[in-house]
Amino acid sequence: MGTAASALLDPIAAELEVVGRPRTATELLRRARQRRQIQGMIGISYVIDALILLIYSKAGTIPAFIGPSFAATGLFTVACNIALSETGVTERFKDHYFIAPQSIVGMAVALAFTYIAPQVGVVFLCTLFIIFNFASLRSTPRQAAAVWTAMTLGLAGLFMLTDKPISIPHATELERFATMLVFALAIGRCMFLGMFSSTMRRSLYNSGLKLKEAYRRIEELAELDELTGSYNRRCIMRMLDEEIASARRLKTACSIALIDLDWFKRINDTYGHPTGDEVLRTFAITTFANIRTIDRFGRYGGEEFLLVMPDTPNDGAARILERLRLIISGLDWSAFSSGMQLTISAGLTTLRPDETPDTLLARADGALYSAKARGRNQIACA
Ligand code: GH3
Ligand code: MG
Ligand code: MG
Repeated sequence: MGTAASALLDPIAAELEVVGRPRTATELLRRARQRRQIQGMIGISYVIDALILLIYSKAGTIPAFIGPSFAATGLFTVACNIALSETGVTERFKDHYFIAPQSIVGMAVALAFTYIAPQVGVVFLCTLFIIFNFASLRSTPRQAAAVWTAMTLGLAGLFMLTDKPISIPHATELERFATMLVFALAIGRCMFLGMFSSTMRRSLYNSGLKLKEAYRRIEELAELDELTGSYNRRCIMRMLDEEIASARRLKTACSIALIDLDWFKRINDTYGHPTGDEVLRTFAITTFANIRTIDRFGRYGGEEFLLVMPDTPNDGAARILERLRLIISGLDWSAFSSGMQLTISAGLTTLRPDETPDTLLARADGALYSAKARGRNQIACA
């Protein structure tokens, strides 16, 4: 029952099911296997009840044929369900477990046997609780309403339209033993289903947490440059747009700088591309450590980075950049490889009224070009 119940309750599969999406062969096989497991569990349940009925017939409460007939009828419904599942019929329905139709058929069988053998009505009425408990684990509100209505109509037919003396046998010791088994096993099965439903809730909660964390990580990764961990170009450009809009709205200054590593091709050529990558990473980390939390720093492309400094006039931005330039040139780059040195050049601009991000960037690029032309390792203002 463990595997079958967990198959029924498989929370991830249930929650992530996308209606109408074509299913892969593996997925179809998994669903068919789960349906088989559930049918196996229902089959076992019928056999358990039939064995109890045999005890009642031994006690003389009911004729001997009731137990085998109940098992045969139940197993026949199980066989029909397996046939519908194996031929792919149930796959055409959203409720591919056929929970609602199956529960209604199960209830009809239980009610019919209560009518045939009212002396042991308790066995079949307990079955109703198990069926309802089982169905409620995966039913939609509409399905639950359909199953409950069917059960109520069936019970009304049985209790209101007939005068069957539905009994709980307890006259002899054997009858009392069988009745005790009926309750013990019915409560046991209900408890088992209840335990699985609480496992499902816990598992769903954990899946929810994992999904949330994965979603947060995906969002984060979608914004970051893989190599340097700084924002990627798409993200830093979006941030530039946002900061420009905010500077306009709040009437504050906004400065930006295009920072380029000097002679970086030589570093690659002399020390190798992997060392070049390490240098890029170290530059990004160092920059991050030396800018303010309000500043936005991202990789603009190759060895060129964009620093957006909100609420910063030109002279303040120039001081930040000059400080960064000195830190970078003062780092002990020879730790990577003896004799290595690294400097940066930057083109700095401050937003003008009615300027677009493109023209602001173009001016920064022009300033960077003049910093390079003037000999590198310097900051040029546009
Ligand atoms: P300049 O001072 O004029 O900027 O000279 P430069 O050598 O830095 O400029 P250039 O544009 O000639 O070369 C940039 C180099 O940056 C070339 C390219 O291979 C290297 N590069 C770009 N992206 C990466 C990267 O992700 N990793 C490494 N290791 N190198 C990169
Ligand atoms: Mg360069
Ligand atoms: Mg460059």
